Amino acid sequence: MNDRVKPNPWDVAREQFDRAASYLDLDPGIREMLRHPQRELTVYFPVQMDDGSVRVFTGYRVHHNTALGPSKGGIRYHPAVTLDEVRALAMWMTWKCAVAGLPYGGAKGGVVCNPKEMSEKELENLTRRYATEISILMHPEGDIPAPDVNTNPQIMAWIMDTYSMHRGFTTPAVVTGKPLEVGGSKGRVEATGRGVMVTTLEALRVLDIPVKGARVVVQGYGNVGAVAAYLLQDAGARIVAVSDSRGGIYNPKGLDARDVLRHKRETGSVVEYPGAEFVSNEELLELPCDVLIPAALENQITRANADRVQARIVAEGANGPTTPEADDILAERGVFVIPDILCNAGGVIVSYFEWVQDLQHFFWSEEEINQRLSKLMRENFRAVLAVSRERDVTMRTAAYIRAIDRVARAIAIRGIYP
Ligand code: NAD
Repeated sequence: MNDRVKPNPWDVAREQFDRAASYLDLDPGIREMLRHPQRELTVYFPVQMDDGSVRVFTGYRVHHNTALGPSKGGIRYHPAVTLDEVRALAMWMTWKCAVAGLPYGGAKGGVVCNPKEMSEKELENLTRRYATEISILMHPEGDIPAPDVNTNPQIMAWIMDTYSMHRGFTTPAVVTGKPLEVGGSKGRVEATGRGVMVTTLEALRVLDIPVKGARVVVQGYGNVGAVAAYLLQDAGARIVAVSDSRGGIYNPKGLDARDVLRHKRETGSVVEYPGAEFVSNEELLELPCDVLIPAALENQITRANADRVQARIVAEGANGPTTPEADDILAERGVFVIPDILCNAGGVIVSYFEWVQDLQHFFWSEEEINQRLSKLMRENFRAVLAVSRERDVTMRTAAYIRAIDRVARAIAIRGIYP
């Protein structure tokens, strides 16, 4: 991570919005409305720890906009969570759902904690109490959380169970990303990485770069990064470097993405994978490659390193990995950026499929889910590309134009209450 320049994600999100909004003839009131979250909840809640002590944790749930439907967005457990980060992530969810054509608004949640230092029981206690505290906002028709960094299907199952206990009956549609046994969807675990793969293949086609042998670098070997890596490898690409929070590994001849994942599962990290050279996360971003997939955290490509990125395509698996200044530098240098709100929408798309299945109590096959997901990702990519060409703007601005236009129209048609 680049520690020298760390912009506030909420400033970044607003700047991205302002840039795109200037292309649209928005009503000034609606524009101002969209620059603010709709509602924010901060909770301070006690958790009983294994040693008998009680610790107070801070959590947030922010709804950015609900003009298109119930709000949707993940829950992040991380020591660096802040209200501004959650606000930014909530706003990005509004645009992501809108670009994807889903009937959802945007939300996000977070708890300031270090899950790596907590036992399973402590995590369950924290999750159940946080879920209770934010249950005044959660509802299957109102606000539907999902996993994000350091939260997983088990945590979603605890949220579903807690909510259901309070209501007195099982309510699977209140949260997505659940295990299959309790109303989860097939294909959800791989969905975000699969969407990154589909949009990356589209971008390679636009730039006329053959998939076979295309060199791919992945920062962050978690749910998004590792899946994108092995699916791109299956499509013929060559994964030359990957990393996690402890550092990266590089082999220009190619790494076996699935075997690296096995190594990470066994040892806790990709580092020390045999037959590869160690690289730091800073160096990794600057390696020679065709595709760079930032799939860790925000603010990785900044004005401090953007001119040294050698990739021709940046596929944003993570949310907010590129700052607006870095965006300008990449655009000037002709780097094709697939923006986060388009590139990593696979997760929320299959979350939407999960919610629809839960509401109907009728479940689809994995094949059907993957087909529907790929089709939607391709269509959305092509629609954004068309706006980008028509208006002569970057893919990010084009995605924002589509998203903001959709949300603003919904607000205008609904009218300002009362
Ligand atoms: P994850 O916890 O499964 O994986 C994150 C990975 O990043 C881990 O391998 C971790 O070691 C690594 N990492 C952490 N700090 C790092 C650093 N400084 N440098 C390099 N690597 C680092 O999380 P995830 O679900 O894969 O999410 C990753 C990103 O993708 C986040 O920005 C998240 O908001 C975004 N995202 C996730 C989903 C989803 O469905 N999981 C959907 C859309 C967007």
